[in-house]
Amino acid sequence: MTVKSIDKQYVMGTYNRFDLHLVEGKGSLIKDEKGKEYIDLTSGIGVTAFGIADKEWSDAVKNQLDTLQHVSNLYYTSPCALLAQHICERTGMSKVFFSNSGAEANECAIKVARKYASDKGYDRANILTLKNSFHGRTLATLSATGQEHYHEHFQPLPTGFVYADANDIDDVISTAKANNVCAIMIECVQGEGGVVPLYPHFVKAIDEYAKENDVLLIVDEVQTGNGRTGQLYAYMNYGIKPDVFTTAKGLGGGLPIGACVVSEKAQNVLGFGDHGSTYGGNPVACAGALSVIERIDEKLLKEVREKSEYIFDTLGRAKGVETVKGMGLMIGIKTVKPVSDVIRECMENGVLTLSAKDKLRLLPALNIDFDLLKKAVEIIKNACKI
Ligand SMILES: *Cc1c(COP(=O)(O)O)cnc(C)c1O
Repeated sequence: MTVKSIDKQYVMGTYNRFDLHLVEGKGSLIKDEKGKEYIDLTSGIGVTAFGIADKEWSDAVKNQLDTLQHVSNLYYTSPCALLAQHICERTGMSKVFFSNSGAEANECAIKVARKYASDKGYDRANILTLKNSFHGRTLATLSATGQEHYHEHFQPLPTGFVYADANDIDDVISTAKANNVCAIMIECVQGEGGVVPLYPHFVKAIDEYAKENDVLLIVDEVQTGNGRTGQLYAYMNYGIKPDVFTTAKGLGGGLPIGACVVSEKAQNVLGFGDHGSTYGGNPVACAGALSVIERIDEKLLKEVREKSEYIFDTLGRAKGVETVKGMGLMIGIKTVKPVSDVIRECMENGVLTLSAKDKLRLLPALNIDFDLLKKAVEIIKNACKI
């Protein structure tokens, strides 16, 4: 039996997998079981920030693996402490809670928001999220996700979420006022929603409203974080400072980790016994993450912005391309051809890409070699041609 047929028989069919069995890789190149090589513009959906089998990351992980792979959160360990310190020093935030995924990081943010309001004696439990958002697959984060089709068949969902239109500040404010809102949660670039960046004036206006009304602003940086948009975190492109941000994907470089990061205002909201996770802050995941985030410096971020500009320029003028949207190396391309045809053609010609709604989505490794990127963009250009 082939891996594909075993998987089909024994793994729950929750993923509509591409007809591709991948076996190994290095950097932004990946090989399938027949030895065919692909340029990877997906990075495991924004996870492998420095590509496959990145040496610094794998050395950091292996070293920790052979030293102390796990104890429990009843003890201090250095990778967890140092990673939290690094994130706080780079962002001006105050404290971090580590979990194992993006959805879990958002669960923590939801708990912070509810308890913040409760500590203050406010009668506020609702969290406002935006329509077309994506915040995860646990029941609460599914409920937070402002797309009805994800909610179908899973009722009843946890209550306490209200939705407003993205880029419509009047709708956000009136919905917040009408619903005793303790927090507003946004993605600066809606990823799964089709790579849709929020307008700067809209994000600024939400930030002002939140501050004036002591409502927490939570920014979901699960996909946009860790250098993806050309800044360490996407909110930095908007000149705001959230009360809480969450991140995951790219932080781990390929091992499961999530982080809920809070500002001074919310730093003491969760205390002993209020939250926990068996694996959260795991030394191996944290050591890998530290080796990732330490290398997301100004030089790398500049390269991300330059590569982004190249993609926008080249594909923006390409035949069969309607629009190119996004930020940094998180890019959504509306093509004239159906996106599934473009993805298939790219794959046949040795380039792996993603979709987001009806768009072609690119999330290459941040350090992808520029010549390799150019080669891949040419292949995409040809695949988009009508
Ligand atoms: C992927 C994603 C999540 C969920 O992360 P998981 O690690 O799959 O739980 C949450 N929010 C956003 C914006 C995401 O892109």
